Amino acid sequence: MTQNATNMNAEGTSERWVYGFDQITAAEAAVGGSWDAARGLLGGKGANLAEMTRLDIPVPPGFTVTTRACNRYLQMDGKFPDDLWVQVVDALHSIEEQSGKRLGDPNNPLLVACRSGAKFSMPGMMDTVLDIGLNDEVAKAMVTSTGNEHFVLDSYRRLIQMFGAVVLGIPDEYFEEVLTEARHAGGTHSDADLDVEALGSIIEAFKQVVVRRASLPFPTDPLQQLRMAIEAVFKSWDGKRAHDYRRAAHISDDLGTAVNIVAMVFGNTGDESATGVAMSRNATTGEPKLEGDFLINAQGEDVVAGIRPTRPIEELADEMPEAHRQFAETAKRLEAHYRDMQDMEFTVENGKLWLLQTRDGKRTAQAAVRIAVDLANEGVITRAEAVGRIAPEQIEAFLHPRFDPAALAELQPITSGLNVSPGAATGVIALDPDLAVRWAEEGREVILVRPETKPDDVHGMLAAKGILTSSGGRTSHAALVARQFGRPAVVGATDLDIDLLARTLSVDDWVIQEGEFVSIDGTSGDVFRGKVSLTEGDLDDPHLSELLGWADDISVLDVRANADNGPDAERAARFGARGIGLCRTEHMFFAPDRLPTMQKMIMATTTVERDEAIASLLPFQRDDFADLFRAMDGKPVIIRLLDPPLHEFLPDRDELQRDIADLQIKLLRASGLDEVETLLSSVAQANNLLVQVDAQREANPMLGTRGVRLGVLIPELTSMQARAIFEAAAIVIDEGIPVIPEVLVPLVSDVEEFIRQRLVIQAAAKCVEDEQHIHVPTVVGTMIEVPRAALTAGDIAEYADFMSFGTNDLTQTTFGMSRDDAESGFLIEYLESGVFTSNPFATLDPKGVGKLIDICVTGARAVKPDLEVGICGEHGGDPKSITLARKLGLTYVSCSPFRVPVARLAAAHAESMLADEDSATGRP
Ligand code: ADP
Ligand code: MG
Ligand code: MG
Repeated sequence: MTQNATNMNAEGTSERWVYGFDQITAAEAAVGGSWDAARGLLGGKGANLAEMTRLDIPVPPGFTVTTRACNRYLQMDGKFPDDLWVQVVDALHSIEEQSGKRLGDPNNPLLVACRSGAKFSMPGMMDTVLDIGLNDEVAKAMVTSTGNEHFVLDSYRRLIQMFGAVVLGIPDEYFEEVLTEARHAGGTHSDADLDVEALGSIIEAFKQVVVRRASLPFPTDPLQQLRMAIEAVFKSWDGKRAHDYRRAAHISDDLGTAVNIVAMVFGNTGDESATGVAMSRNATTGEPKLEGDFLINAQGEDVVAGIRPTRPIEELADEMPEAHRQFAETAKRLEAHYRDMQDMEFTVENGKLWLLQTRDGKRTAQAAVRIAVDLANEGVITRAEAVGRIAPEQIEAFLHPRFDPAALAELQPITSGLNVSPGAATGVIALDPDLAVRWAEEGREVILVRPETKPDDVHGMLAAKGILTSSGGRTSHAALVARQFGRPAVVGATDLDIDLLARTLSVDDWVIQEGEFVSIDGTSGDVFRGKVSLTEGDLDDPHLSELLGWADDISVLDVRANADNGPDAERAARFGARGIGLCRTEHMFFAPDRLPTMQKMIMATTTVERDEAIASLLPFQRDDFADLFRAMDGKPVIIRLLDPPLHEFLPDRDELQRDIADLQIKLLRASGLDEVETLLSSVAQANNLLVQVDAQREANPMLGTRGVRLGVLIPELTSMQARAIFEAAAIVIDEGIPVIPEVLVPLVSDVEEFIRQRLVIQAAAKCVEDEQHIHVPTVVGTMIEVPRAALTAGDIAEYADFMSFGTNDLTQTTFGMSRDDAESGFLIEYLESGVFTSNPFATLDPKGVGKLIDICVTGARAVKPDLEVGICGEHGGDPKSITLARKLGLTYVSCSPFRVPVARLAAAHAESMLADEDSATGRP
C-alpha cells in the first residue's frame, strides 16, 4: 500500500482511513501505541485479524477501513471523506498482489468479504456480505478455471442474496421463496443438494427479485459492489436496532464501526473444504477442551444457521487430521496471546486452514470461574487477575437454579429479551396476576406473562416462579420488582405478541396457549417453549473454592456470616465465613416449645413469677449457643441480645378477640359443670392475654420499647441471656473447642444505656466464672443503628469493645422511612421515575448513611484506634456496599451464609478498586 495516501482533516493534519492487516504496528502508532485505542480505531474484529497476521497465523489478506472514516461519513451526511476511496483501492491492490488475483479479472478473479466490526461486538450491525466480485463473466471464467461449476454458482447465488438483503435492504423472504420453490422442484430439503441447473435458474430469479424490489439491477461492477457494501456498513451504525442496543448497553454513539475487506477463502469447494466455529474451552463448563462445530463443503453462516446438521469439532480430526491439529495448536497460541478463552471462526480450503476471526469467548459464570482458575494454574494469568476477572454478581449464578446443560443443548430459544433478574424458571403461562395466584395455590408452577407489569400485578409476580414481559427496560417495574423479590425475569422480549383476549402468546409462527409450559432464563434473557429441567445451585464447586481462597489472600476486609443456629453456622463456615457477625436471639424465642414461656415472662405479675419464666428460658438458649460455638470452632461469634418489641411474642389482638367471642358462645351452649369451668378459665386466660396485648400496644413499635430499652427495663432478661452465652462457652471449652463469644447490645442511642447493660453482662460473666472455674473474656459491643449513636460514638467507644452497624435500621432511621412501607410502596415509584437511583436498603447510601458511618468510625477510633468495627446488615453481602465499607475503614462485613462467597470476592475487588483510586488521585 502506498504510504502517502493521506487526507487533510479538520485539524489540518493528514488522516489515514485504511490499514492493511499487515499494518497493525502503524495503526497502533497512529493512536498512541495502546492496544485498546487500536481496537477503537480498527474495531475488535479488524484489530484481531491484524494481530493474528502479526503472529503469523494464517489469515487471508485484507484491510480495515477505520471507525473514524465511518464517523466522518455519517457527519458528512453520507459522503465518503476525501481520499477514502483512493485509499481503499490502494489497499485492494495490495491484497491483489498478496493473493496473486485481481478483483473482476475473469482470468484470475479475487473475491472478497465485506464485514462490519465495531469496538464492541453488537447486534444490529450490518451482516457480512461474502463473495463480492462475482458477476456473470467472472462466474463463467471461474467455472472454467476451477472446473467446479457447482461451487461457483453456489457462491454467486449467495452473493446476490446477501447483497440484495443486506446492502439493498430487500426482505429476505423474497429470496427464500425462490429457494423453497427450487428445493421443492428438486425434491430436496437442503440447499447443498441443489444441482447446477437449479442454481443457474435461482441466480436468474434472484436478479429478477433485485430489479423488482430495489428498482435497480444487481450491480455487475465488482468495484461498485464493494463501494456499496462499505457504505451500507457505515449506514448500519445509525440504524434503529443498533441505536437501541447501544442505549441499552451503554455504548457510546460516537465509536463508529470499522469495515473489514477480506480476501475470500472457500469452505464450499468440495469435500476437502470445510467451515466452522470453535471455542478454545468449553463455554458452559469451562473444561479445557476445544468445543465447536463444523460443516464439510459449506460457507459462512451455514454452521450457525442450522440449515444442515453440524458435526462436533473432534470429528474434524478424522476428516482432516492436519487441519485439525493446526487449528488446535492455533487455538492454544491465541489463548496464550490474548490470555483468555477464544471464540474462533475458521475455514479449510482444499485442506489449508485459515482463521477468519478470534475474540474473547462468551461463557457462563461457572465456565468463567473454571477458566480463570485454570489459566492462573497454567501460569497464563496471575491469581490476582483471575480474581479480578470474576464479577461478584457472577458468584450468584452458582446459587440460582439453572437449566440442566444437557437439556439446554437440545434446545433453541424461541425468543429472547433483557436478562434483568438472574436464575432460570419453568412453569405454565398465566396471563393475569389473579390466575397466577390461583394456579400457584393449586400447587402449579407459574410464569406470569404480561405486556408489562404495574403495582397491581405484584401479588401475581410473587406467586409466580418467573416473570416474562414483552415491553419495558432494565428499570421497568417488572425488572425492579423481580430483582427485589428474587424472581428470575426476562423483560422487553419485543418479538412476543401477547393476546390477552385470545389468551395466547405468539412468536413468529409459534402460538402458545395460556396454561402451556414456557421456560425463561433470567441470566441470559432466553425464552424457551415447554418445560426445561432445572438443576439446583451449588456453591461447593472446587474451582470456586480455589478462586475464593485467592480472594481471601488479597482482601483486608474480613467476611463473617449472620447465622442464628448450628446448621446455618456450619454452612457459613463451609462457605468461608471467618466468624459469626450477627446471631439474632429472638428466633430462639419464637419456637413453639419456647413461646409460651416467653409469654409467661411478659405477663408475669410478680418478680418471682417473671424470674422463674426467664430462668426456664435459659437452658434453651444455652444449647443453641453451644451449637453455634461448636460450628465456628474458635472463630468469633457475635450474639445480639433480644431486639424486637415484646408485642411480637404475643398473639394478634383481633385474633384474640375472635377467640374470646368463640369461647363465650361455647360457654352459652355448655352443658356439664366441668365444661363450664374449663371454658371459664380459658376465657379468663384469654382476657388476661388481651390486657397484656393492650398494655404492650405502642403507636410506633419499631421506635418503641425494644432493643437495649428492654434490657434496661428488665435487666434480668439481659442477665439470663449473658449467663446462657457464658455457660454455653464453658461447656464447649470443656469439650476442648476454643470459643470467642462477643455480646452485642442493640439499638443503643446513649452511652448510659450501654454502661448499664455492660455491668449486668459483666456480673453474669463473673458468676459463671466463679461457678465453672473457667475464664471466658467478656467482650461487649454495641450496635450502631440510630444516628445519635453514630454522632456520639466517641463517648460510647470508651466502654464498648467493638461496634457493629445495623445498616438496615440505620438506613431506616437516617432516611426516616420504614423499609416495609417503602419497598412495597413509594420506593418502587421513586426508583422507576429516578428520584432515587438505587434502593438504599440494597446498596448502602454513601452520602447520608455512609457519612454517619464515617463520623462514627472517626469518633470511635479517636478513642480506641484499634476498635473493631463491622457491618451486620444485609448490605454486608452487596458488592458496592462492601467497597464502601472498606473505604470507611471497617474491619469486617457480615452477611447471610449464602452471600458469603459473593462478599469474599467483593472484598478482594475492593482492594484493587482502592488501589486504582489511590493511583488516580496520586496517593501512595
Ligand atoms: P459475524 O460478525 O456475524 O460473525 P463475520 O464477518 O465474522 O460476521 O462473518 C460471517 C461468516 O462469514 C463467518 O462464518 C465467517 O467465517 C465467514 N467469512 C467471513 N469472512 C470470510 C472470508 N474472507 N472467507 C470466507 N468466509 C468468510
Ligand atoms: Mg464472525
Ligand atoms: Mg436493628
